[in-house]
Amino acid sequence: MTAQLIDGNALSQLLRLQVSERIQQLKLQGVTAGLAVILVGDNPASQVYVRNKVKACEQTGIHSVLEKHDATMSEAALLERVAALNSDPRIHGILVQLPLPAHIDAQKVIEAIAPEKDVDGFHVASAGALMTGLPGYWPCTPHGCMKMLEHIGYNLRGKHAVVIGRSNIVGKPMALMLLQQNATVTICHSATPDLKAHTLQADVIVAAVGKRNVLTADMVKPGAVVLDVGMNRDDDGKLCGDVDFESVKQVASYITPVPGGVGPMTITMLLVNTLASAEKSLSTSS
Ligand code: NAP
Repeated sequence: MTAQLIDGNALSQLLRLQVSERIQQLKLQGVTAGLAVILVGDNPASQVYVRNKVKACEQTGIHSVLEKHDATMSEAALLERVAALNSDPRIHGILVQLPLPAHIDAQKVIEAIAPEKDVDGFHVASAGALMTGLPGYWPCTPHGCMKMLEHIGYNLRGKHAVVIGRSNIVGKPMALMLLQQNATVTICHSATPDLKAHTLQADVIVAAVGKRNVLTADMVKPGAVVLDVGMNRDDDGKLCGDVDFESVKQVASYITPVPGGVGPMTITMLLVNTLASAEKSLSTSS
């Protein structure tokens, strides 16, 4: 068996086209969707991420504001900026790029974002909404994974999903989303003694660890769907995921590549969340 690729670039293109059509409709009703991105410091990876987010906004017609601040910015000053953006009616989504410099309490800053503008879905109110099945913004990366499963028409009901990784931004929300779709979910992490014993039973595997070759072909049940969230560098410095792609694609039924898989979907879901927030502002103002 050779797995079919789930092409995150192609699916993103499709979804971004739909977003940009709805953005145009909103403009006709007098609302320009706006996203504020705050970058503190000069982390090179963060600079690339925010640039890509701003570019994606421009391409879909979302107004974006990129605020770059020195790494020496105080926590109080950052909280002030978040407060100002919370009350700015032109801004529907606020994203504070992580990681923040060590002297700033990232959780405190995230909690300062108004939940209705928390398009990253990291606020405790967003996490609580996901946990309880209430409406709210879902974290973009696992949400993108769910869109990929939806795209291939995969019905999760009664399936066994194994999530490798339990971070607040990927692993845990991923598990909750799969559960919401009636999968039976196992969460594995660094203290899981026999990862292979779990993954071998899985119909769907989501790898969100940040280590190369965490998942190899001998750990995958034939026909399983494999989503690779990891972003690592191989020996040649090229981007790669957590999954041993070449071997696992011989066993899986569907697989996401790295690059060109989950990565572009993450930015796409940020656009989707920003659009949703702008649409909601229209319905609450009328
Ligand atoms: P994280 O906070 O470092 O979490 C990694 C998780 O993996 C932890 O729960 C850890 O367990 C677990 N883990 C570590 N070693 C393991 C092992 N040998 N076996 C099983 N589990 C193990 O990372 P993250 O923020 O969730 O991100 C995970 C990866 O996804 C990273 O490569 C990141 O760059 C990537 N990522 C990609 C996107 C995208 O858009 N494509 C977005 C976000 C993140 P413990 O909890 O026990 O430590």
